[in-house]
Amino acid sequence: MRNEALRLAGEKVGADRGGERCIEVRNPYTGALVGTVPKATLAEVRRAFDSALHYKPALSRFERSQILNRCAALVRERSQTIAALITAESGLSLQDSRYETGRVADVLMFGANACLIDDAQTFACDITPQGRQRRVHTRRDPLLGVNSAITPFNHPMNQVAHKVVPSVATNNRMVLKPSEKVPLSALLFADLLYEAGLPPAMLSVITGDPAEIADELITHPAVDLVSFTGGVGIGKHIAARAGYRRLVLELGGNDPLIVMDDADLDEASTLAVQGSYKNSGQRCTAVKRLLVHEAVAQRFTDLVVDKTRAWSFGDPSDPAVQMGTVIDEAAARLFEARVGEALAQGARLLAGHRREGALYAPTVIDQVRPEMTVVREETFGPVSPIIRFSSIDEAIAISNGTAYGLSSAVCTNRLDDIARFVAELQVGTVNVREVPGYRLELTPFGGIKDSGLGYKEGVQEAIKSFTNLKTYSLPWT
Ligand code: NAD
Repeated sequence: MRNEALRLAGEKVGADRGGERCIEVRNPYTGALVGTVPKATLAEVRRAFDSALHYKPALSRFERSQILNRCAALVRERSQTIAALITAESGLSLQDSRYETGRVADVLMFGANACLIDDAQTFACDITPQGRQRRVHTRRDPLLGVNSAITPFNHPMNQVAHKVVPSVATNNRMVLKPSEKVPLSALLFADLLYEAGLPPAMLSVITGDPAEIADELITHPAVDLVSFTGGVGIGKHIAARAGYRRLVLELGGNDPLIVMDDADLDEASTLAVQGSYKNSGQRCTAVKRLLVHEAVAQRFTDLVVDKTRAWSFGDPSDPAVQMGTVIDEAAARLFEARVGEALAQGARLLAGHRREGALYAPTVIDQVRPEMTVVREETFGPVSPIIRFSSIDEAIAISNGTAYGLSSAVCTNRLDDIARFVAELQVGTVNVREVPGYRLELTPFGGIKDSGLGYKEGVQEAIKSFTNLKTYSLPWT
């Protein structure tokens, strides 16, 4: 597939650029060329902002809802093609890519529904001794300027959908820079929206080298909101550069699955492997640490090892394979090195730890200590490090002991323990007897500490970031 156009407000530009102004997208499993995209120049990025700024969206709620619903239908209709593209450019298994395609359709459907909800509020003003016979009303307006979105590689289309859909639902204009590692899914998503009727000026997609163009998406004078999903390092760099602008930062995670001594160990071990290996372990909410009560640790570990050995991995395009590659060989080498370091420091290898190019086998290590790099940092791959604890206090302390605070999972039926986990875990989400990543595309989602500033995504909350809330008061009650 060759993709020669930047989606600057739907224009076809950049078709004639030479090879040095293109980015090659290669299949992480085969190394084959999947497509090329333009390396935008700074001038092209500025042009995208200028044309967005000069366009005033005027779609009714009904029209926006129709466009998003039509796009959801297109995504469902073409799910095989979309999944194949996601797999080809990211190395995610077809099973993972199909699941992602369904999630994208859900984001669009929830966005379409949200367009139809008027969340305006009204306040009677005669409710205090100083009160008057008036009413205060609220309304949500689109941003005055343009919004910038920057997305990561790990969900090539769904991360893009979570930025674009709330922007469209609120009649905003967006300039999007997808990850240079997986730009083709973002371009396809934009094309589907245009086909569904989106005025191209409401969405421009810029592809390029972040070293050349990313700063412009943060500092261009037209930018009112920067919405970023990615790693902590770049997120904090953006926070330092953005200045007086609204910022939504959805950053890395280091999520625990905590297994108490009363847990159903079959269920807990199934959640552990699903949480660790789906999407090749490359979810911000993947299980990154297995914390297990020492009374059940051995039985739980044996089950995790059995289920890990049964987790198939290999050619991502084979529909029978559960797990494909990670994003590239450099990432696989990093996981190999981190696990190697933990083993040298006394952890025990129970499964996996074999690498071939960008393919890294689902890996279980036991006797892990919280200070080891593999669990202190975010290890964004298919690794299950097991840490044992002896009390709920210790489990909470270990869980809270990293810089991250995205999500968590707890396996127990004891309501008193659950109440403590919900109150005391320093995270954005606690899922009881589910993986940390469980959510609807609608529900509020996002982290605290180094995982984010507390502003949420999920269609319903994201809409708030994309709008200015205005109040007005009237003398009529
Ligand atoms: P990354 O931070 O390396 O890159 C993210 C984006 O930032 C890419 O589009 C990249 O081109 C861009 N970028 C690079 N340099 C930049 C600069 N100087 N200024 C602005 N943008 C720049 O992240 P990644 O490796 O693509 O994705 C993995 C990370 O994303 C993990 O840490 C993961 O946990 C996180 N993530 C978080 C969430 C969440 O909702 N909290 C969701 C998915 C992924």
